[in-house]
Amino acid sequence: MPNQDSLPSPALQRYDVIVVGSGPGGASVAQSLARQGQRVLVLEQGSAAPLRGTLAHMASIGAIPGKGAFFHRDASLLVRGLTAGGSSAINFATAATPPLERFTALGIDLAPALAACRAELPIGPLPDSLLGPMARRIMQAALAAGLPWHKLDKMIRPAVCRTGCWRCVYGCPFGAKWSARDLLDEARLHGAHLLDCARATRVLLEQGRAAGVEYLHGGALRSARAPTVVLAGGGIGSPRLLHASGLAPRSLPFFSDPVVAVMGTVDDIAGGAEVPMAAGMALPGDGLWFSDLTLPKPMYQAFALQVGRVDRLFAHRRTLSIMVKIRDQAGGGIGPRWADKTLQPDDRERFQRGVGLARNILSQAGARHVFKSWHFAAHPGGALAVGGGGPAAVDSDLRSATPGLYVCDASVLPAPWGMPPTLTLLALGKRLGYLLGDARYRLTADAASPLNRRKTKCGQICSEFKPSRRISRSSTASVAPMQEETAASSNTTYPPSTIFGLTAS
Ligand SMILES: Cc1cc2nc3c(=O)[nH]c(=O)nc-3n(C[C@H](O)[C@H](O)[C@H](O)COP(=O)(O)OP(=O)(O)OC[C@H]3O[C@@H](n4cnc5c(N)ncnc54)[C@H](O)[C@@H]3O)c2cc1C
Ligand code: SF4
Repeated sequence: MPNQDSLPSPALQRYDVIVVGSGPGGASVAQSLARQGQRVLVLEQGSAAPLRGTLAHMASIGAIPGKGAFFHRDASLLVRGLTAGGSSAINFATAATPPLERFTALGIDLAPALAACRAELPIGPLPDSLLGPMARRIMQAALAAGLPWHKLDKMIRPAVCRTGCWRCVYGCPFGAKWSARDLLDEARLHGAHLLDCARATRVLLEQGRAAGVEYLHGGALRSARAPTVVLAGGGIGSPRLLHASGLAPRSLPFFSDPVVAVMGTVDDIAGGAEVPMAAGMALPGDGLWFSDLTLPKPMYQAFALQVGRVDRLFAHRRTLSIMVKIRDQAGGGIGPRWADKTLQPDDRERFQRGVGLARNILSQAGARHVFKSWHFAAHPGGALAVGGGGPAAVDSDLRSATPGLYVCDASVLPAPWGMPPTLTLLALGKRLGYLLGDARYRLTADAASPLNRRKTKCGQICSEFKPSRRISRSSTASVAPMQEETAASSNTTYPPSTIFGLTAS
């Protein structure tokens, strides 16, 4: 793969699609389009440098105030990852099945794309050998209390993952944790260009339709042009970019799936270093989600300090921790330089019930000195919700009101949400890749389109692109067949993030 510095200037290139942002939504669209032979440019604000798995690197990605971290008026924290791969680079790698019926009701059949994602990605519960002692103890206690606690699906390659490791949230440096960087690697193998440290500043419009993107790179303002632009800057990034382009109001409400950690000490475990969120349970009817959540020591200590539990500061290795996540109502606002959201009475009531249940589980596990953290959040989304009817909502094809401009990230998720969103975003990205691929075919209006015959950069004839498939863009039920992509991709395996390891600056 070419080093980014040796890429020709994006201003001189002709692209079919520009994708802004390289988190799960953006990377998935880029991968799907690149496989189809489309000329794709991905602009990413963060760096593509290899993940180091250190606190300092994680902090540079997700803890700089106003960039990766937002403090709300109620002293709660909202986090996002600004790096190649977006928040997936520093997330807990839990995969939750999308609520397909909610999408069906919105005119989106997500099942084929989901099946294709599941076939390609390393998704499944951890083997017992990777279940840490704390996750195990919590699961035993929950099961003894009659709760439907079970191992969760993780996006982790068990063969490479290490016991006694805790670095998932710092960014796995061992290639064991899947992140959207893996999709970027594959998109680049198929010819896509990734320009990191490039922050999009606005969408360029010509005669009322998207014509490209203006961006800052190396201190200079530049532009790249394409007839299709996909905004995938994440739950905060895309609403901001729409506003900066004059296409959305200054402030939009959002959800954030806030979380508290309920923690208690046991005497017979010396742990603190294990895969987080290995097991848990969802209570969708109550808008609650639970899992074990063993955090790295500095993060645990920060949470204990924030609520004044100095007495628990040095109990990290003996502290069982349960995450309680709630499905919050959309509210607050994402503005040009801020994001602020406080809990509503319903949210507080949900937390009360969830924390009560977590306390019962900890008590069953024999934990003492139980306390809870202040709430924090890491799933900003819903500001441009599909079917949400808001001033900047997208339609069921993830199309904005501006021709040629699409959005594919957590901001299109229907609010409220309340579960890990990554797998849903991957499926939405794959589906959008097919929709855009088909659209381009129809623009060429040629069954023997060169797109269909184009050899991809890795030497394969792209078999994803099916010219015989003609769909009406207004009919959201007729999405291109995903099975073909599954079949095509199952012949190709790519080592995790190797390209980042070799060429990233
Ligand atoms: C600590 C943590 C733990 C989590 N755990 C889980 C989990 O276990 N399971 C799960 O499913 N989800 C989890 N999540 C949430 C999940 O990772 C996110 O919901 C998901 O990554 C959102 O994907 P996205 O496509 O919306 O974009 P993001 O991941 O937010 O990526 C957007 C990208 O766009 C870039 N960008 C933004 N603006 C611009 C711009 N103007 N120009 C160029 N680039 C721009 C950003 O730098 C970023 O890389 C977690 C998140 C965090 C922070
Ligand atoms: S626990 Fe496994 S997936 Fe997580 S950082 Fe360590 S090796 Fe990577």
